[in-house]
Amino acid sequence: MGNAAEIYALRYATMTSRTPHMNFLQPDPHDATAQDLDYFVWLIRLPGRDILVDTGFNAEEAKLRNRILKLNPVEALANFGVRAADIRDVIVTHLHYDHAGNLDRFPAARVHLQEREMAYATGRCMCNGLLRHPFSVEHVTQMVRHVYGQRVTFHSGDGEIAPGITVHRVGGHSDGLQVVRVLTARGPVVLASDAAHYYANLHRKSPFPIVYNIGDMAAGWDTVERLAGHPDRVIPGHDPLVAEIYPRSGDSGDVFALHAVPSRSFATAEAAQ
Ligand SMILES: [Zn+2]
Ligand SMILES: [Zn+2]
Repeated sequence: MGNAAEIYALRYATMTSRTPHMNFLQPDPHDATAQDLDYFVWLIRLPGRDILVDTGFNAEEAKLRNRILKLNPVEALANFGVRAADIRDVIVTHLHYDHAGNLDRFPAARVHLQEREMAYATGRCMCNGLLRHPFSVEHVTQMVRHVYGQRVTFHSGDGEIAPGITVHRVGGHSDGLQVVRVLTARGPVVLASDAAHYYANLHRKSPFPIVYNIGDMAAGWDTVERLAGHPDRVIPGHDPLVAEIYPRSGDSGDVFALHAVPSRSFATAEAAQ
């Protein structure tokens, strides 16, 4: 485990008071509790090498969508002591606006993307307003520019980014959505991104309403659980609980250490739900 990676979640925005119908395709009719939705990028640190997972959105995109951006993820990284110019690898889990902006801010980075995500985001499904809505044509166009600039490594299914760091296509939420498995000192941790927005989407097997293929999404939950091997090693993409149960790292903002053991276990909660 000498080369075990560290993982940090950097929170850069929060959307408040989302009603259950915004978070579950079929919400529990007895549950009216509103929940916040957090936005993160994730930094994987190996000895001598940083890998960024997703790039968030910027102020321009936040304004278009009426979101409140606390700070640009590039600044969140800088506050944490990491220069965007030094990042050599960026894994983009999928091309939705809150995961694939700022791609012009990492001049030295190779971008890792699933082949099917590029095809999905530039193909006929984008003629449909509902499916197109989570994408930004500016972000997708930037990715096309990176393809033409030979800056993109395409993965088809499973792929290795570095020793102990692998990507796995799950699809479902977006056709080419990939999750990231990271070998840490506490075992493999899976950054599920939008394969599970909240712990509850995964634990209740209850889809988030933005979905391309529900069958693939359900199979993706199994894949995430299998890759992690333990419910406490799955990190949902947008759940404010992550910031509650993982220790804050230093005083450089909303940064949480995911390689640490969480203060709450889901080992029995999962079986109970
Ligand atoms: Zn998404
Ligand atoms: Zn998202």
